[in-house]
Amino acid sequence: MTSLDGPYHNLEVAEVIDETDDSKSIVFDIPDALRERFEYTAGQFLTLRVEVDGHRLVRCYSLASAPGLDSRHKVTVKRVVDGRASNWLNDNVAKGDQLEVMPPAGIFCLSDRQTPIVLFGGGSGITPIISLIKTALETTSRILKLVYANRNDRSIIFKEELGSLLLAHPDRLEIVHRLDDVHGFVDPALVVQEIGPKTDSDFYICGPGPFMDVVESGLASLDVSSDQIFIERFESPDSPVDAAPVDTSGGTVVTIKLDGHETEVSVGEGETILAAARRAGLEPPFACEEAYCGCCMAKVVEGQVDMLHNDGGIDQKQIDDGWILTCQGIVKGNARVEYPD
Ligand SMILES: Cc1cc2nc3c(=O)[nH]c(=O)nc-3n(C[C@H](O)[C@H](O)[C@H](O)COP(=O)(O)OP(=O)(O)OC[C@H]3O[C@@H](n4cnc5c(N)ncnc54)[C@H](O)[C@@H]3O)c2cc1C
Repeated sequence: MTSLDGPYHNLEVAEVIDETDDSKSIVFDIPDALRERFEYTAGQFLTLRVEVDGHRLVRCYSLASAPGLDSRHKVTVKRVVDGRASNWLNDNVAKGDQLEVMPPAGIFCLSDRQTPIVLFGGGSGITPIISLIKTALETTSRILKLVYANRNDRSIIFKEELGSLLLAHPDRLEIVHRLDDVHGFVDPALVVQEIGPKTDSDFYICGPGPFMDVVESGLASLDVSSDQIFIERFESPDSPVDAAPVDTSGGTVVTIKLDGHETEVSVGEGETILAAARRAGLEPPFACEEAYCGCCMAKVVEGQVDMLHNDGGIDQKQIDDGWILTCQGIVKGNARVEYPD
């Protein structure tokens, strides 16, 4: 384990696989001592911390492998134009390297219903979806349909693996490839058409923001309840620091240690530590802001911090050890928190 008792573990890269021109898979060896800690459910992700140009970046990557079916943990990283971590990972990671990785987390998982499953994947959004498909085919008798949108044929990730799944399960799996350069963009009418009468299905959506909006808008026109819809957002929610003024007259101060520097930040009533840190101009790690990814974890070393909510982003042992999710952390009087070294 690295980082003192922090949430990151050093994992060795067992293999790097070229998937498409702009995406690579990174396969990890999980040492025996960490095997239990890195058990996962299909649809979950790993959080990687990398150092790029002197900045530490924390990013989530969904597991494209399926637990119990694939022997090793695999994430697939697609380059984002001007993206810092995605390009660094594609350009620099090689077999034998060590990467800092948090154990699996996430709630984009299969329900225990027996209804059909319709999955909408766009680009790199296929990563958790292929894990869900492999797992559902193996562990359930559910009928699956994948609608997979890509820019063009060359950008289809896992094309061969999906083809093999289709051959192995022709009666249970249907795959519709949508290519922007051939068919145009997916629109709500197409979403409705592809779902057809299967409105009692579970729906899984993962892909670029505009693609997800279109799928959600198609679903909104159908009689589908919200508990049938599962969404994984790859882009951090557009969450600029709230421009509304924050009343810090209560005088509460949180001392934040981040990347070796300490900053005293005044905190407003009910304001989370993450929000206060960002308002103060710091750049702490975060992704989901909904208490399930664990990216924003920090340790409370003085004072009391209560969490508004925990959706699995942090486990009981970590809480017992003093860790909190800063996106949910409300200080009770002055406090001091330290992000992992
Ligand atoms: C739960 C979760 C799972 C994820 N799983 C995967 C995965 O399996 N594979 C994968 O490739 N990525 C995945 N992502 C996205 C990934 O975490 C990074 O956000 C992505 O690699 C971009 O990081 P970056 O540092 O390269 O870009 P940054 O330097 O952070 O951003 C550069 C610019 O690109 C924009 N941008 C950021 N993210 C995206 C995006 N995803 N698409 C388009 N534009 C973007 C930003 O708005 C910014 O303008 C996942 C994200 C989450 C929250």
